[in-house]
Amino acid sequence: MKTLAAILVQLNAPLEIVELEIPSLKRGQVLVQIAYSGLCHTQLNEWKGSKGPDPFLPHTLGHEGSGIVLEVGEGVTKVKPGDHVVLSWLKGTGLDAPSTTYQGPNITVNSGAISTFLEKAVISENRLIPIPSEIPLKEAALLGCAIPTGAGVVMNNMQIKEGQSVVIFGVGGIGLSAILAAKHAKANPIIAIDIRSEKLEKAELLGATHIVNSLDCNPLTKISEILGNNGSDFALESVGRKEVMEMAFQCVRPFGGLCVLAGNLPKGEKIQIDPFDLIKGKKIIGTWGGGANIDRDVPLFANIFLKDANFLKPMISHEVKLSEINELMSALNNGQIARGLIGFGGVCI
Ligand SMILES: [Zn+2]
Repeated sequence: MKTLAAILVQLNAPLEIVELEIPSLKRGQVLVQIAYSGLCHTQLNEWKGSKGPDPFLPHTLGHEGSGIVLEVGEGVTKVKPGDHVVLSWLKGTGLDAPSTTYQGPNITVNSGAISTFLEKAVISENRLIPIPSEIPLKEAALLGCAIPTGAGVVMNNMQIKEGQSVVIFGVGGIGLSAILAAKHAKANPIIAIDIRSEKLEKAELLGATHIVNSLDCNPLTKISEILGNNGSDFALESVGRKEVMEMAFQCVRPFGGLCVLAGNLPKGEKIQIDPFDLIKGKKIIGTWGGGANIDRDVPLFANIFLKDANFLKPMISHEVKLSEINELMSALNNGQIARGLIGFGGVCI
């Protein structure tokens, strides 16, 4: 059996669309017909080589998606053929299957436990979460990374309560998911900061009480105008820029304000903070996928956010075919995307 895939052959060069032979399944592996794949900054960072030399080239990409199980390998009990599933980079229960390789024309392609820029993909059992078939697969793809990370930050890391304030820096997939969860928790105010007005409009649609375009003003001054001088209870950085991380820490209140970093910096880049802020009780942490327990949180978040698929529609700003993946990568790199999806079209939904 063969599959089309978008693979990374060389850093900073366009992804190549190739036809690959699907290997036979090993213990703990599952073959999934991918319905939708998300695209997030992690893939952009891999493409740029932000973490340094990439020893796995050429390799597949993608760590968030949805699909239907075609075949299961030995030992797999979590899913069966025909099941609808969310695919997530976050590890859940089930067997942790080894990485795999696909054979292409004159090329051997490496693949990790999960990859989603393929029509059909071999996935480790512990990166799959079965979902009820009535959940739309398009929106379900967001349950693989954006929603567990963004909503997970708010619900697991911040444990935000009614009436608490939060500032969200960057309203891509993670920031918008955090806004959804903050609204669900009745946080107030929910302040969204970005440099793209079209993304800020989406933030407002999804629940931000205030939107601030940081190209138009000093965001810290604007935040003080909204909150008074005490600062916010919480801040989330989901941009992945040094100066934004420092600003997010600055805007939380002394004596208990918590800043959570979800964005990544290129390897070796550091942030600066004033230790006296720590002495005054400001807190700063990073988040590993929103502290999500994927087997618990995917059904929970599906129940909260996907009961009405229209609710999530503003989050999905772009949908492309696999052959258009490089245009989608460029648009994400230019900051134009809330969340972009690759639709594979071969799945009967
Ligand atoms: Zn991601």
